[in-house]
Amino acid sequence: MSTYDYDLITIGAGSGGVSASRYAASMDARVAICEAGRVGGTCVLRGCVPKKIFMYSAQFADAFADAGGYGWQLPQAPVFELSRLTAAKNVEIDRLELEYRRALAASGAKLLSGRAEVLDPHTVQINGEKLTAQRLLIATGGSPNRPDIPGIELAVTSTEMLELTAPPRRLLILGSGYIGVEFAGIYHSFGSAVKLAYRGELPLRGFDGDLRKRLAKAMEDRGIELHRGFHPVRLERVGDEYICHGNDGLQLHADLVLNAMGRSPNTANLGLEQAGVALDPQTSAVKVDAYSRSSVPSIFAVGDVTDRLNLTPVAIAEGRAFVDTEFGGVPRSVNHATVASAVFSQPPLGHIGLSEEQAVQDGHRIQVFEADFRPMRNVLPGRNERSYMKLVVDADSNKVLGLHMIGTDAPEIVQGLAVAVTMGASKRDFDATVAVHPTMAEEFVLMRKPRA
Ligand code: NDP
Repeated sequence: MSTYDYDLITIGAGSGGVSASRYAASMDARVAICEAGRVGGTCVLRGCVPKKIFMYSAQFADAFADAGGYGWQLPQAPVFELSRLTAAKNVEIDRLELEYRRALAASGAKLLSGRAEVLDPHTVQINGEKLTAQRLLIATGGSPNRPDIPGIELAVTSTEMLELTAPPRRLLILGSGYIGVEFAGIYHSFGSAVKLAYRGELPLRGFDGDLRKRLAKAMEDRGIELHRGFHPVRLERVGDEYICHGNDGLQLHADLVLNAMGRSPNTANLGLEQAGVALDPQTSAVKVDAYSRSSVPSIFAVGDVTDRLNLTPVAIAEGRAFVDTEFGGVPRSVNHATVASAVFSQPPLGHIGLSEEQAVQDGHRIQVFEADFRPMRNVLPGRNERSYMKLVVDADSNKVLGLHMIGTDAPEIVQGLAVAVTMGASKRDFDATVAVHPTMAEEFVLMRKPRA
């Protein structure tokens, strides 16, 4: 019989922590999970889920604009009220939080409300009480970066963007990662004049260059102002407006500024260093091995706090692999190399595997197959936005190394095809697949000639 109070104490009730705790409890482990705030974590409370609700709302702007092309006459110009959307979203988030609490309780994992601190490799203190466990799991997630830019505290973060009750007249977004481009599209559709300012030449560093170029063009065509090569050096408030100064003297004016300059792991004030847990000196992330074990053998970490691949499904996969390894007797690690992801920009994009640039850099001899077309849906409304799909194929083995798409429904299409790419599908497998017609996705199985 164990001398510890629990088999597992998890700190952080977000996607990674909750799924690992429930799964461990289902294997009859005695589990406690500590959470200082609401249950659900970034994804459910202030990330993926509310963002997607806002994105669905934003899509109505296109639908209303295109309705006439399909024979629909609107009796009057549609009116958007962000306050109604935010209120409805909050009701749904409350429901989901309750669902998370219910699922945790049903699993047998005990939820402890309060801020937890690690005292030593097997002890956690919460609400003045010391509790011990054979293993500790750190799943505290991340929070927005505050780069060292004077006045940056005047900017809001993605959290506040999901609580606004009226769109700002002029919105300035600093940073062009996932969060920057997603909110640019959403608030542009809500009626804000959006400026997206970033230090590179194209948004979404790390994504395939052809998708990045097309996204930049599509955003500009929609009326989003892009400020390339902009390095913010100071933000100030003058009267009712904000002024962001760039290093080249350029000043950008706005009524609200969104800081979308990345996120950092939540490792401060957790007692990790005193327990001997090694943190990355640059990012403060918990350093872990392939099995999510930290430098202290009894302490593990999953999700954004480890800064590996900061995506909800990855945190969940890491949590389940940890439980299989430590409680199920089946050692298992997560393959971070082939993970699909999507950006809910306008138009959205999705991808899995290597970009063309990465494939070349990795020394592959490649063939590129692509399709660039105006989707049928856009023709009658006179919308010129195009879709683009690309397969990066290893010329020697014929294996599909990367699959990329920008266009309506790209996230859904890529999720389906991700199975094939994860299984190691070849271009011949794509060619042997009969198309579903008429769809956009069929283009992925109809690309016959490689790019010259
Ligand atoms: P990202 O890391 O994706 O992008 C950060 C942006 O900020 C980049 O444009 C970066 O520029 C810029 N930046 C960083 N530091 C500075 C600085 N000091 N000065 C100027 N610019 C700076 O972060 P996000 O905040 O967009 O997203 C955080 C995480 O959340 C992502 O890693 C992602 O995994 C996750 N997420 C996922 C979503 C999805 O799956 N759809 C949606 C939203 C978030 P540069 O590129 O030049 O470094």
